[in-house]
Amino acid sequence: MFDLARALSRAEELTASRFPDHPGIAALLARARDDGLPHTQRTAALRLLGALFDEPLVGPQIVHLDIIGVCNANCVYCRDHSPYVNDREPWRNREMPYELAAQIGRAHV
Ligand code: SF4
Repeated sequence: MFDLARALSRAEELTASRFPDHPGIAALLARARDDGLPHTQRTAALRLLGALFDEPLVGPQIVHLDIIGVCNANCVYCRDHSPYVNDREPWRNREMPYELAAQIGRAHV
């Protein structure tokens, strides 16, 4: 479970040690601290700070999981289904078992 207070504490440590006088970092940290802002905006500020510190403070905003590699189209620009592709990815036409996809969803949502 994400711990906002812990992430904020780490952001404060990193700011103090690496960028104590940087106005942009200070502004992001102020947004992360502002409990009047929606949680999503505070975590977005922490996500940016994590990227600047090269140390993730917040998990990804979006996770995209392709559970199926099958497609019934043949778009010419497709890297995997175009009729002009000779070396197809090995996962083409494979499907993730439903139970595995459901386990991943339950574990990470
Ligand atoms: S780009 Fe590829 S995967 Fe997407 S619809 Fe076209 S053929 Fe299917």
